[in-house]
Amino acid sequence: MSLLVQKFGGTSVANPDRIRAVAARVLRTQQEGHEVVVVVSAMGDTTDDLIALARQVAEQPSDRELDLLLSTGETVSCTLMAMAFRAMGQEAVALTGAQAGIITDNSHRRARIVAVDPQRVTQELEKGRTVIVAGFQGITDGSDITTLGRGGSDTTAVALAAGLHADRCEIYTDVDGVFTADPRVEPRARKLDEISYEEMLELAKLGARVMHPRAVELGEAYHLPIVVRSSFNDNLGTLITGGKQMEYRRKVRGIAHDPDVAKITVVGIKDRPGVASKIFVPLADAGVNVDVIVQGTAVDGVAHLSFTVSKDDLGKAVSLIKNLLGEIGAQTVLSSPGLAKVSIVGTGIQYTPGYAARMFQVLGDHNINIEGITTSDIRITCLIDQSRVQEAVQALHEAFILDQPVT
Ligand code: ADP
Ligand code: ASP
Ligand code: MG
Repeated sequence: MSLLVQKFGGTSVANPDRIRAVAARVLRTQQEGHEVVVVVSAMGDTTDDLIALARQVAEQPSDRELDLLLSTGETVSCTLMAMAFRAMGQEAVALTGAQAGIITDNSHRRARIVAVDPQRVTQELEKGRTVIVAGFQGITDGSDITTLGRGGSDTTAVALAAGLHADRCEIYTDVDGVFTADPRVEPRARKLDEISYEEMLELAKLGARVMHPRAVELGEAYHLPIVVRSSFNDNLGTLITGGKQMEYRRKVRGIAHDPDVAKITVVGIKDRPGVASKIFVPLADAGVNVDVIVQGTAVDGVAHLSFTVSKDDLGKAVSLIKNLLGEIGAQTVLSSPGLAKVSIVGTGIQYTPGYAARMFQVLGDHNINIEGITTSDIRITCLIDQSRVQEAVQALHEAFILDQPVT
């Protein structure tokens, strides 16, 4: 008998009918002889709605209370799911993240799992019950409730699967698997039958929100096969795994985009050693992720420094830098929220020169201005205007995926 962890995302459990449909599907899998632990996200847009509600009472709600509030979304869906199972005659128990042993550090809103203690889950399974765990939430050693960052239920599922030594973690969502680009932005995107952890991680970090990046990292670390598939049909989905030499088959595996990027420019910085660290260390300490960094050449000992942050972190980052202006000898800080990142990702990129040139040419042919560039071994990212993102994704997808022979 194999042990599966099956995670169902927000759209998959958006209303009572969907919750019953998911319970029926899990029951079928159990009847086929598998043991299943279910992880659920909050119903539909619940998390967005709760954030909006909090902002109606406070402009900057405190992270600790926000976490407690947001965790209720997943608590609602897991309790309803357990009730649906019982109504179908199957013994079931709903567990919060804390009850399921998801122990995190205390960085509210983006907590990291430090340990999984699945004792209670195991005990309930031994009693023949279906266990339904609230995703996205955990508990600190000081008994505070935390959340794992947007999209974090995937990470709960993979962590639990690793802790339980499950055979596989299945991520059920509202598309058929991992595609060569977001199928809602590029309808010609193709579903991938399999993808390596490395490529999936890069796509996820660059905006392909079908998987939470930390879930992919955990899957790789624990050699856990992850399958992404639809909860709306029985299609096979995409296998994320480290196996085979599949990376070399296709140079560019996918196009990722992130439409919610903000650029910060620190104007008139003194060109002297140590200035960059005075900016980036406090940002890192505040948990702000910095990506595309562009430093202009200094003229008369004065330079400008631009970098991107996610739109959500913009307010925090700008106020931090404003406080540093005197210390770093800069004149002012400017911010522009309306940017996007588009990226080409593939392990093949590192072995073949010319990808960057071709990417710039494709964007240039479409008259799309590049405001910044960043690269790693397996990706090239361009910063562009938000309003051009769909056109850029489609153009790059055509050039790098559709025009390539399938190998
Ligand atoms: P869930 O609520 O099930 O966790 P998400 O909204 O987090 O679902 O993720 C699924 C969505 O990810 C899809 O609806 C799709 O629009 C988007 N997406 C972005 N990039 C990709 C990609 N490369 N392949 C598949 N889906 C993608
Ligand atoms: N409900 C949370 C979110 O909307 C977590 C998740 O769906 O994975 O981000
Ligand atoms: Mg998700």
